[in-house]
Amino acid sequence: MEKHADEHNPTHSHHHDSHSHSHPHPHPHSRNHVDPEVNTSRRDFLRVLMGGALAGASVLELAYHRAAWARAAAPATEGNLFDLQKVADGVYFAHAHPQAMVNCNAAIFVRSKDAVVVDAHSKPSAAASLIAQIKREVTAKPVRYVINTHFHWDHTQGNHAYRQANEKVDYIATATTKQLMQDQSLARLKSSLDDEVPKQIDALQARAAHSTSAAEKAFCAEQVRQMQAYQAELKDYTLELPTITFDKTYLLQDPAFDLHLEFHGRAHTAGDLFVLCPQQRALATGDAVHGWLPNLTDGFPRLWPGTIDDVARADFKYTLGGHGPLQADRTVMMNQRNYIEELTEKVEAGKKAGLTLAELQQRLTVASLKSMQSNGYETFLTRTLAASNPHFGPMPPLQHDVNDNIRDVYTNLDRA
Ligand SMILES: [Zn+2]
Repeated sequence: MEKHADEHNPTHSHHHDSHSHSHPHPHPHSRNHVDPEVNTSRRDFLRVLMGGALAGASVLELAYHRAAWARAAAPATEGNLFDLQKVADGVYFAHAHPQAMVNCNAAIFVRSKDAVVVDAHSKPSAAASLIAQIKREVTAKPVRYVINTHFHWDHTQGNHAYRQANEKVDYIATATTKQLMQDQSLARLKSSLDDEVPKQIDALQARAAHSTSAAEKAFCAEQVRQMQAYQAELKDYTLELPTITFDKTYLLQDPAFDLHLEFHGRAHTAGDLFVLCPQQRALATGDAVHGWLPNLTDGFPRLWPGTIDDVARADFKYTLGGHGPLQADRTVMMNQRNYIEELTEKVEAGKKAGLTLAELQQRLTVASLKSMQSNGYETFLTRTLAASNPHFGPMPPLQHDVNDNIRDVYTNLDRA
């Protein structure tokens, strides 16, 4: 028996959990947010908040406390790392809560005898948390297939939890994604554990030490706690590689509905796949299309817009992206496509004219980019950023992330 997890109109987007960008590595400037997933630290946190530590707090800090307190006090989301939203019959969107170590969203397809989940987050405990939530809120049917849209850590490192829940699970990806996982997953994880996460922890601890705000110290402590939990968990890591691979298309047929797994060209990575459910008009897109700024670190700037055009020929209404809120129309998809195209054209022209990367980052402002100023893209991104990111104090400007995109387009311009 299926229970509808979320009867909200799916056109109502949930902006409180989006974020500006995803990175294949923990990001040195990741915007952090308190997600009181562990009761003991929640109690400590509340004690700090309620212990008179707010004397002299700024308006901004008080707003932050109110949001954090509301979160901590809300029993409905206790322990959950995701909001499960019903998209259509048998189709659910698991919208990830902000975490210091980012979890991707998942798409869940409930079929006649089993379930199919798209993408598996940054750690097995997050995937295990979703498995438990699916059981509580959606279906008791086992997850038979896990689809990895691409090889990045925040979409694959939770794979093993599905094997632990059901030995018969198969992992499906493109052959390219399997190759990239084989070649890069363990090395990237090692550099994250040895180098990037310790640096982020050091930075948070230094920030806490220099802060006079008890609330800011508590914020930093919670972020550090989440990162240390990640380090401890991932120290002992089982890489689960795809067990089923394909080059162009792979079909999962079922009496409930079909799932078409399709490669449409290079985009966010060399191996991105899309999952189309024609009967329910839903498309899971991984990070090739999502509600944050695109991440081009491993991307193909010249090819990406054409890949989106190719998949956009299909008939679908809902886009279930790897990050950010569910989309019930194609506005964000086309905004993102146009943004990548414009950035690529302008970086290419600038490079030809002999401009340095720093000069390009100065010239290509958010205000000057037509794609940012069209169809509400800047407003959408700014709102999702401000509403949803783990952060304390003012958000870094959107330009900060655009500058990362400019750097990556500059570096990867000629990848084909
Ligand atoms: Zn991602």
